[in-house]
Amino acid sequence: MAKEFNIARLSSRCGTCDVELPAGSDVMATLTETKDDFVRTDYCQACWSQKPAGEGESEFFCTWQTRVPEPKARKKLFVDNDLLINFFERLAGAVEPAKVNFRFVLALVLMRKRLLVYGRSDRREDGSEVWHMVMKHTQAPHEVVDPKMDEAMIDQVSGQLGQILEGEL
Ligand SMILES: [Zn+2]
Repeated sequence: MAKEFNIARLSSRCGTCDVELPAGSDVMATLTETKDDFVRTDYCQACWSQKPAGEGESEFFCTWQTRVPEPKARKKLFVDNDLLINFFERLAGAVEPAKVNFRFVLALVLMRKRLLVYGRSDRREDGSEVWHMVMKHTQAPHEVVDPKMDEAMIDQVSGQLGQILEGEL
């Protein structure tokens, strides 16, 4: 079985000053890429604004503005489409099994939302199946490796995705 994503959501504390981030406060969420998974760190506005310009682009896999959810509301928040697209696009070319799985599940979610359109599939020389897809609003082509997950695995990966992004897909 492919290695599971190990997304560390350690605490709701700022990654720099360690101040507790209360529910309802605006924060900058970030994902840092490690060898085969991601670590999520949130920053308070004050610390984020002190980072040198452009650092957010280079240091992190992706960043997005969010609000610390109320504990009970956590499940009801929907993940922003732009964030899903950004994450999907940035995973292009990843070869680690966990990231391939993640990209595939994101493709399924984007298809369901009619943001990504399936074209056709074919086989690479190594035997893997590749889906040729098009992002609707830009018409940009995307190749997505089908990792041949069963339903249970898709559910699991999808759950991990919801956890890291803190919302419903
Ligand atoms: Zn801080």
